[in-house]
Amino acid sequence: MGVGGLIRHSCLFMSDIIHLLPDAVANQIAAGEVVQRPASAVKELMENALDAGATDVRLIVKDAGRTLIQVVDNGKGMSPTDAQKSFERHATSKIKNADDLFRLTTMGFRGEALASIAAVAQVELRTKRVEDESGTLIRIEGSVIQEQEPCATPTGTSVSVRNLFFNVPARRNFLKSDTVEFRHIVEEFERIALSHPDKAFELNHNNQSIYRLEKGNSETWIGLFRQRIVALYGNPYNQRLVPVEEHTDIVRINGFIIKPEFAKRTRGEQFFFLNTRFIKNPYLYHAVQSAFQQLLPPDSHPGFFLFLEVDPKTLDVNIHPTKTEVKFEDDKSIYAILKSTVRKSLGQYNISPTLDFEQEMSIELPYKLSDKPVEPPKIYIDTNYNPFTADTRQPKNEVQRNNLNNWQDLYRQHMEQSPEISAGQTEVPLFQNVQEKPEGQGFLQLSQRYIVCGLKNGMLIIDQQRAHERVLYERYLKQVEQHQGVCQQKLFPDNVEFSPAGAATLNGLLEEINALGFDVAPFGSNAFVIHGVPAGTEHLDSTYLLEGIIQDYSNNEQELLLKPKENIARSMAKRAAVKPGQTLSAEEMKNLVDELFGCEMPASTPDGKPCFIQTGIDELDRRLKQRS
Ligand code: ADP
Ligand code: MG
Repeated sequence: MGVGGLIRHSCLFMSDIIHLLPDAVANQIAAGEVVQRPASAVKELMENALDAGATDVRLIVKDAGRTLIQVVDNGKGMSPTDAQKSFERHATSKIKNADDLFRLTTMGFRGEALASIAAVAQVELRTKRVEDESGTLIRIEGSVIQEQEPCATPTGTSVSVRNLFFNVPARRNFLKSDTVEFRHIVEEFERIALSHPDKAFELNHNNQSIYRLEKGNSETWIGLFRQRIVALYGNPYNQRLVPVEEHTDIVRINGFIIKPEFAKRTRGEQFFFLNTRFIKNPYLYHAVQSAFQQLLPPDSHPGFFLFLEVDPKTLDVNIHPTKTEVKFEDDKSIYAILKSTVRKSLGQYNISPTLDFEQEMSIELPYKLSDKPVEPPKIYIDTNYNPFTADTRQPKNEVQRNNLNNWQDLYRQHMEQSPEISAGQTEVPLFQNVQEKPEGQGFLQLSQRYIVCGLKNGMLIIDQQRAHERVLYERYLKQVEQHQGVCQQKLFPDNVEFSPAGAATLNGLLEEINALGFDVAPFGSNAFVIHGVPAGTEHLDSTYLLEGIIQDYSNNEQELLLKPKENIARSMAKRAAVKPGQTLSAEEMKNLVDELFGCEMPASTPDGKPCFIQTGIDELDRRLKQRS
């Protein structure tokens, strides 16, 4: 029927079907593009403050922005007429014609933010220019101005946004937990604070001061930037930053990379700023990542804080409403320059890369005791052993044999009791013939990553890191639930300082952390003393360990919505697990395998990755026959 049908149909009723949406509805729809969550309003309001020339921007938030988001600035303020106009759609003081679009140096220019926010919240604006006697107060709610009157207010602007999405229940219901929403806010705040190290910022949440960032006292921009990073993320960062600098005709690059040994396992600390605006750009990310190649510990991501400046004429920033994506005219050259610049900085810092790297790596390895001389693995080698003949050897070591029996028994019992565990885990091959007796007696470590052990009718290949993660996870979960963690007191307590956000997370988790065997106490605003660590992690760098746990914890919380106890056990297990590259002694392998099969769910890591695979002799036979 299509269009014709539609027209006939409407004619039939003699009424037109196209009508203009009321402004309020149109604004609400458009608001969806600009304001997705409290953090988007935070970003828009803070950017407006900076565009108005503010040198001091305060952000006050209640209930993760659900009930209040207020931004107070000391910028140039607005006249009464401008104050009213500022809420109209496409009202902007920043461009007058299309040409201006290519000369933009301000953050916003679409004239949509205030209109959008006012469409979905109850907004109160107070603003005054320095030359005016009195200021202006405007109350607006769901795009309708409720009140406008002169008021006494300091020079600058204050915008408070109350009850965001009060008139859009669908959006309100779509918001995540307060922790998640607040984290988004902190993220926006950090990006803006980082990109303006010469300005003062404050973040207050539920009457608690989270950040108070003064303008630094360095003479140079790069010095200010360093101070800002340290103020946001804590003192240890001072030692972790390596400067990056390159000025070419196409692009100017300034900033820092994080030394590879402090790379994180999450992508938290990756900041590109393009002409002072935070951007995301997978292509540029790839350039940095490839510069770091070979230098990063496995599974970790480079950390960087990089400012790029290019001529605005060579950019299309307007391709996305929230403007974190950009298109460069000459992206290939920028890629190449970025990569070589980062490489150069890494090279300058890394005078003896392999040596340093090895040392830093060993800090993470739980099985190696630092005072123990490095020994070759004490693996039992049977010179007559031929993996391709049927196994007829007599086990020489009864204990080991018993252990193998034990764990396979345990595993069998487990499978019988809970057959549902195998469902949906088709990637993990399970023992098909659980009646068979394992007769392997030695453990062989492959590539310092896998443990191979023989079964009567095949072999098991166990991923050492994953197996250990599973073992630790179950142990830590029990400990945190039953407050049974064993603490190893430190001879010399460590003082650590966290970022305000990290400190807030840690403060909320102290009970769980200490239940695991840590002995951590708050010490000043964002500082903590580590008096003791969980037994078995003494050889790890306790600051780095704790920092990693907090970071994983926050990430898991955001992405997986895990319960706190489970989350902390997971984070801790991930951080403390033995890494690839660690040589294990025969005894260590045996213990690990025993422990793995004593677990409730040995087949996979807490996040569902297989811990081992099994290959049967019949499979080997089949494959070898195929070849001959
Ligand atoms: P845009 O920032 O894209 O111009 P907004 O809706 O964010 O659009 O703001 C509309 C206008 O209101 C701005 O162009 C600016 O003139 C004015 N304005 C908004 N916030 C402030 C502020 N904090 N201080 C001074 N003027 C402001
Ligand atoms: Mg704006």
